[in-house]
Amino acid sequence: MSPKIIRKERIVVKVGTSTITNENGGINIHQIDLLCRALAGIENLGYDVVLVSSGAIAVGANKMRLQQKPKNLRLKQAAASVGQCELMHLYDKLFGEYGRLVGQILLDNDDVENPARKENLQNTFDALLENHIIPIVNENDSVSHVEIESDQKLFSDNDMLSAIVAAFCGACKLIILSDIEGFYDKNPSTNPDAKLISRVEEINEDIYALAEGSGSNRGTGGMITKLQAAEYATSKGVDVLITNGKNTDYLYDIINKKHVGTLFVAKENN
Ligand code: ADP
Repeated sequence: MSPKIIRKERIVVKVGTSTITNENGGINIHQIDLLCRALAGIENLGYDVVLVSSGAIAVGANKMRLQQKPKNLRLKQAAASVGQCELMHLYDKLFGEYGRLVGQILLDNDDVENPARKENLQNTFDALLENHIIPIVNENDSVSHVEIESDQKLFSDNDMLSAIVAAFCGACKLIILSDIEGFYDKNPSTNPDAKLISRVEEINEDIYALAEGSGSNRGTGGMITKLQAAEYATSKGVDVLITNGKNTDYLYDIINKKHVGTLFVAKENN
């Protein structure tokens, strides 16, 4: 009989569009492969892993050979529909190469706000994780207009979605992978002298004042939405790390309690 692996902790990893696509908008297969390999390795160590992946619209737009980012809602939803298929195909194939199964979960606001749907969803996450299947989560962009349109968006480029999922699954850590090393004292895209902040105990107005929107034309939320996500998750007792998705060894460093990126410390009373 094979030895029983004792499950350790639940970890939610969110990957942004700027990490899984290239400058030209094409899909960054090498990067996705490295990510799948690292997460499969971490899963093998006994951690429960949930992946929240952005990128469906960018990947779909590229596959549809659109000359520019889709602007109207109909085309964005069509691109999301095409891109989500393509992304799941790749995740299924690459995680499969490393011996892992994946399951797709597409969410919209009602799923996390309506108590009956929330309970169903919780059961689905638990059943997947108990069976060592990696849930891959995204906003249901092809039917929900709130996220992609959106003045009133709840999930905001999946940063808030990942925080809600982390709290919901009882994760101990949320790791937000982006295109920079962490949270800086000013926007590093426009300020070469910006300094990395390694630890934030309290997300207050002074901290928000250091954050700006996205610096790339592929990212959408920038640091503001990441801070909002971190504020929510830490208030629910989840440690949040923001680090560079291009270096997947950082994921192992985090598991091994080495310091990388920026840590937003969980509130203890949760
Ligand atoms: P992703 O697609 O990974 O979510 P985003 O482009 O949405 O990436 O967010 C990361 C970007 O946020 C950085 O590349 C940077 O341009 C911008 N940014 C704004 N303010 C800050 C800050 N204080 N520290 C770090 N990055 C910041």
